[in-house]
Amino acid sequence: MIFKVLTLFPDMFDNFKNISIIGRAIRDEKLEVETINIREFAGNKHNRVDDYPYGGSAGMVMQAMPLKSALESSGWTENKRVVYMTPKGRRLTQSQSNSLSSEEEIFIVCGHYEGVDQRFIDMYVTDEISIGDYVLTGGELPAMVMMDSVARLLPGVLGKQDSYEDESHMGGLLEYPHYTRPAEFEGSKVPDVLLSGHHANIDKWRLEESVKLTLERRPDMIKALLVDPETDPKIIKLINKLKNEK
Ligand code: SAH
Repeated sequence: MIFKVLTLFPDMFDNFKNISIIGRAIRDEKLEVETINIREFAGNKHNRVDDYPYGGSAGMVMQAMPLKSALESSGWTENKRVVYMTPKGRRLTQSQSNSLSSEEEIFIVCGHYEGVDQRFIDMYVTDEISIGDYVLTGGELPAMVMMDSVARLLPGVLGKQDSYEDESHMGGLLEYPHYTRPAEFEGSKVPDVLLSGHHANIDKWRLEESVKLTLERRPDMIKALLVDPETDPKIIKLINKLKNEK
């Protein structure tokens, strides 16, 4: 899979591309992250890529022409997926990351300042994605958030397939708590069941902890599970049981 990121600040991606799991995925050629510096496509001698907003207001707007040139010179053709990171977009969810992970090539546009000329968005952007209901100074961190969540789903990027199957949001529940050595830390012990070696009991405990945590923190996720015809009946039963115990 290849991400082509249009940005005014390509240096921001250096650590992202080199460190930890993403760094390894790139070295192993499971993933490619190419940055394209929009400023190189300014097309004027001052390398200017933004201008004042028509109609007036604070801030600057990124111009359509440099973005178009950057996109077209980086291998874009009609029908390619072009994501613009924006707080006006649809909020990124695990299921959206799952669906993006089956693409071969995704272009990502990082805005800055007040944002991007609407005509560029209308002409080229296929998806507008937000990483949450808050405003950042630029689309670079959102682009990294999205790429990270997609990249870790690609085959072979995480160590084992089941490194992510249980995870929060994967099955509509938040994940159960984790413990590692030592078995006792400052007087606090790891739950006995996890030391028992009894896998069926461990699974049962974990599912119960997941449901409890989700009930406590994310009633919206519980609601969604209760109306989803694909939810495992075992989970529905558990939700109802734990709800009544509260
Ligand atoms: N004036 C815009 C915000 C501009 S923020 C508005 O009110 O909608 C500058 C840039 O940061 C945006 O162009 C976008 O690329 C990025 N950005 C800021 N917050 C974001 C978020 N929550 N999700 C995705 N991108 C975001």
